[in-house]
Amino acid sequence: MINKVMENININDKDFEIPSDVLDEIQKNIQNIIEGFDIPDDNKTDVIKKINFMYTQTKQMSVTDALTRLYNRRRFESDFEREYKRAKRYNSELSLAIIDIDFFKKFNDTYGHSCGDYVLKEAAYLMLNNFRQTDFVFRYGGEEFAVILTETSGENALIPLERLRKAIENYNFKFGGEILKVTVSIGVSSNTDFKTPQEMFDDADKALYNAKNSGRNRVSSAGQ
Ligand code: GH3
Ligand code: MG
Ligand code: MG
Repeated sequence: MINKVMENININDKDFEIPSDVLDEIQKNIQNIIEGFDIPDDNKTDVIKKINFMYTQTKQMSVTDALTRLYNRRRFESDFEREYKRAKRYNSELSLAIIDIDFFKKFNDTYGHSCGDYVLKEAAYLMLNNFRQTDFVFRYGGEEFAVILTETSGENALIPLERLRKAIENYNFKFGGEILKVTVSIGVSSNTDFKTPQEMFDDADKALYNAKNSGRNRVSSAGQ
């Protein structure tokens, strides 16, 4: 069993997280092992319950970013693929935004990493409160976030994204008795004319690059 599990874990993965399909397999195997032990029936249910609880927690951790509590890149990949397919099947609109904190490095360099971490947590909180419950927010990596906006055209996506940009710009990040100002640049693409999720992602990334190059603290759409 361990060999099978080890085969499935990509030890090159920088996050060392366990994919959820491997966790499913682990759960099945644990259940089998428990069944094989000579545990009185009354206790068996308790043991299985406890292990299932631990398993659910571990599974949740494998798709969650510990700092911000947002879903992580692994979860983004699977959610985006699913939403992309759903939008294609039902011919509905879908937008993808990539959000990058401007000059984030200076918070770490000037006030230390705990300040950078505080900015990330606070920014994540502002993001979660900004979007509809049918939209999904992820910490994609470092100081980059991704948002999947379901049933939303590229043009309509600009409304919540502009609102978020302004909310972050106007928010007082209070750290060590100081008020810090933070801005973000955002790139957005939608599923019109695009063939693959990768192309959509690349276009949002290019748009983000344009937002950075044209002065930061702005939202840029793909193809503009
Ligand atoms: P730009 O406006 O061009 O985006 O500049 P930037 O400084 O935000 O971009 P850059 O890519 O140069 O720096 C990103 C920094 O994010 C570098 C890294 O030290 C920091 N970082 C990444 N993850 C974390 C984290 O979890 N905590 C903290 N404190 N810093 C992090
Ligand atoms: Mg970045
Ligand atoms: Mg940045």
